Amino acid sequence: NLSEKLDKALHVLRGHGQITEINVAETTKEIRRALLDADVNFKIAKEFTNKVKEKAIGQNVLTTLQPGQLMVKIVKDELTELMGGDAEGINLSGNPAVILMSGLQGSGKTTFSGKLANFLKRKKSKNPLLVACDVYRPAAIDQLHVVGDQIGIPVYSDKENNNPVSLALAGVAHARANGHNVVIIDTAGRLAVDQAMMTEIANIRDAVKPQEVLFVVDAMTGQDAVNTARAFNEVLDFDGVVLTKLDGDTRGGAAISIKSVVNKPIKFIGTGEKMDAIDVFHPSRMADRILGMGDVISLVERAQEQFDEEQARKIQKKIAKNAFGFDDFLSQIQQIKKMGSMKDLIGMMPGAGKALKGMDIDDDAFKHIEAIIYSMTPDERANPAKLDARRKKRIAGGSGTSLQEVNQLLKQFEQMSKMMKMMQGGGGKKMMQMMQQ
Ligand code: GDP
Ligand code: MG
Repeated sequence: NLSEKLDKALHVLRGHGQITEINVAETTKEIRRALLDADVNFKIAKEFTNKVKEKAIGQNVLTTLQPGQLMVKIVKDELTELMGGDAEGINLSGNPAVILMSGLQGSGKTTFSGKLANFLKRKKSKNPLLVACDVYRPAAIDQLHVVGDQIGIPVYSDKENNNPVSLALAGVAHARANGHNVVIIDTAGRLAVDQAMMTEIANIRDAVKPQEVLFVVDAMTGQDAVNTARAFNEVLDFDGVVLTKLDGDTRGGAAISIKSVVNKPIKFIGTGEKMDAIDVFHPSRMADRILGMGDVISLVERAQEQFDEEQARKIQKKIAKNAFGFDDFLSQIQQIKKMGSMKDLIGMMPGAGKALKGMDIDDDAFKHIEAIIYSMTPDERANPAKLDARRKKRIAGGSGTSLQEVNQLLKQFEQMSKMMKMMQGGGGKKMMQMMQQ
């Protein structure tokens, strides 16, 4: 994937005290190849690497103490710039503020409508109303009701009305009459761009005059995502982009290309099917993530919401003293489980993608892990080094697992301890400071 390739490209430079011009050229070539592989538009990739090269030479990368680090910084800054610089919020002025969803069928509009309503309710104390304007598929209306029920947000729909424009207007009127200060209009999509769909969504927009028109697109579709964005933007001149399905190791190509092709900011990302799998898009964090540095800040923010800070401090101390044991591992797992899907979280940890590659990160796997740890004595939990073959066999028997699973857990534990130590040394410092605030 892109992270790995960029990582490889930058590897030559990272930590190297010496760097030659040939090296810069070689590295930028590698970066370009990585971008192209990740479905970044050819022209953008070329412009990007030219800029990086120019900067690298301009800033005298060759004569600095740590050329590798400077090079990484230049790439990161350029990548951030390409994806939009600063994070952009959405316009919630107007009472109610109307947000209109657009995009192809299956892009994630209905799911994102729910996520956004949930986000605005919980994080911004708004009182949203969801409006179902997909009049072609009754199932689509039911889907929005299911979503609404799940997050406790009312849904306006009317199966008798098959005119999306009057439905949207009725939805806004309903919101006004019932004191909703945000209206999110979920619309129908087609499988491919077609004129009827474009006309319909443009008509809805002209009628309800939304504060925000959001274009929702599946990040997994790569270059197609960019082409679809262009087509929608020509008709709608939308205000922002929502990139969905950026779970785990989805290629970052779409994020990199879209901003520069349509010149509209990416405002949110969807990172899973659940209602809390939404994040505000931060270009610099995305750049970090793409570069495989891990999205430490997002991780910390999410952790902060759920973590018992006292506990976090205790664990940090234990890691520092090398006294991190299985009891701590267990409580970490329990915290992590509260925070969301495991794959998501691991994707955000620096270096974790590599350390845990190939590992089965199924949420169910936790049940076994927990069972194994519960079968250990307190002494064994505190001193994992004591776990010899005889003890392992006993634990496997006690927990109803296999010796192989016990061994695998021990290996994971070791990797996790190592990773935590690493995080504490580098990017983790920031994390610790933030946690202690
Ligand atoms: P719509 O046709 O545009 O309304 O798309 P839906 O909201 O119905 O989503 C289509 C499919 O994509 C559903 O199965 C969703 O669960 C899934 N989906 C939506 N957003 C995400 C996401 O961020 N990550 C993942 N993994 N799946 C998503
Ligand atoms: Mg839908």
